Amino acid sequence: MPDTLEARNPTWSRDELILTLDLYFRFKGNPPGKTSKDIVELSELLNKMGALISDRKADFRNPNGVYMKVMNFRRFDPTYISQGKKGLQRGGKLEEDVWRDFAADPHKLSETANAIRLIVNKGEIPEASEEEDEEFAEAEEGRILTRIHRSRERSRKLVENKKASVVKANGHLKCEACSFDFEVTYGERGKSFIEAHHVKPVHTLAAGEKTKLEDLVLLCSNCHRIVHTQRPWLTVEELRQLIKD
Ligand SMILES: [Zn+2]
Ligand SMILES: [Zn+2]
Repeated sequence: MPDTLEARNPTWSRDELILTLDLYFRFKGNPPGKTSKDIVELSELLNKMGALISDRKADFRNPNGVYMKVMNFRRFDPTYISQGKKGLQRGGKLEEDVWRDFAADPHKLSETANAIRLIVNKGEIPEASEEEDEEFAEAEEGRILTRIHRSRERSRKLVENKKASVVKANGHLKCEACSFDFEVTYGERGKSFIEAHHVKPVHTLAAGEKTKLEDLVLLCSNCHRIVHTQRPWLTVEELRQLIKD
């Protein structure tokens, strides 16, 4: 990798900004200094996460940079804006998005940050699936929890169990949003074909927790794709409403 500014200080990811905003909220906008335990711990966590998901150098987020990033959130904070203080003005659009997605819901923010922390500390981040592309929007909760969502709903054994239980109960497999039945349209080739979508809120997906059959709904490929094309992902209820309208 060339020693450019980008290589030395790569753009902050949504996951990193969630963890950073969580620290900002824990200290109510008054984070401890650069050498404090909390800033150093966050720097270590980000370094570990970077090494796990994007081959970053072991020290790519030093405590100095982490502290600056935490302070960067002040420019969105009404408490500081109202006092006429401006905070640091540098920083990207994603910071603003993450502030908007989470500032009104500190509980969700801390749950999301805890879930990411847990997974990184365990070192169990699922591999990226082929959907990690432009048409598949990363969840508000970031890349790691998005991968957990995908790995749960693509678990072959789980999906087979879900399909078997639905066939047993209803005698057929239909999309739970639009009622599309692959077998009716495609005959034998469509038999038992359908996708599973995990409906539990992404921030509650901590590593190791078992997925229950009720956590999955069956969707046709079109409907499932539509759920995930934009952030925030649609709920199944919103998807049904969209089809009805
Ligand atoms: Zn459908
Ligand atoms: Zn899904």
